[in-house]
Amino acid sequence: MVAKKIKEILDILPDQVKLCAVSKYHPVEMIQQAYDAGQRIFGESHVQELQQKQPILPNDIEWHFIGHLQTNKVKYIAPYISLIHAVDSSRLLKEINKQAIRYNRKINCLLQLHVAEEDTKFGFSPEECLEFLRSGEYKEMSGINISGIMCMATNTDDENRIRTDFRTANNFFEQCKKEFPELTNSMQWRSWGMSDDYKIAIEEGSNIVRIGSYIFGNRTY
Ligand SMILES: *Cc1c(COP(=O)(O)O)cnc(C)c1O
Repeated sequence: MVAKKIKEILDILPDQVKLCAVSKYHPVEMIQQAYDAGQRIFGESHVQELQQKQPILPNDIEWHFIGHLQTNKVKYIAPYISLIHAVDSSRLLKEINKQAIRYNRKINCLLQLHVAEEDTKFGFSPEECLEFLRSGEYKEMSGINISGIMCMATNTDDENRIRTDFRTANNFFEQCKKEFPELTNSMQWRSWGMSDDYKIAIEEGSNIVRIGSYIFGNRTY
């Protein structure tokens, strides 16, 4: 079942688009099934859960942290995390930098852009994000790479609204590359699109989609 879904998605993803299989709340047996089908990138959004899964699953899994990350928990995942999708404050980025240096690593980070209509979601507004980049703070951080932009669309059935959100993120990504040429090399990921909207996301420039329930079924919390 899981293997079939993975293959189905990989078949339709354009070559340049990566699949992050979102395995939160699903057991390691299902992750192993996806792994056996060739999937290597998995996304989790709770530190404690990831901490339990990571040691018992294959070593060459690329773990992505996709949820809201608390500053005091960065230290637990810093030794192995390969991409943190939802960095939404300079304080969090500083902590990631500190822990990465401690473990002699460079951790790839995406800045989470708030584009959705709801104001409950985390993330930088475009203005805040630009302000942060203009401050140049990140240039002093040798333990991190600013690797791109992540966003979540408004939680709605209105496809036009979803498309507009993704387009805003995509335009922002382009603007950053223009305004901050020193980031051109490191900025490569446009992380948007989940089970219900990944097709629109790809049309609107996404090159890493985060798909959970479509692959693994509904989550039981
Ligand atoms: C849970 C989650 C997903 C996956 O959502 P599905 O609708 O199950 O595909 C993607 N991104 C983030 C940030 C999530 O928390």
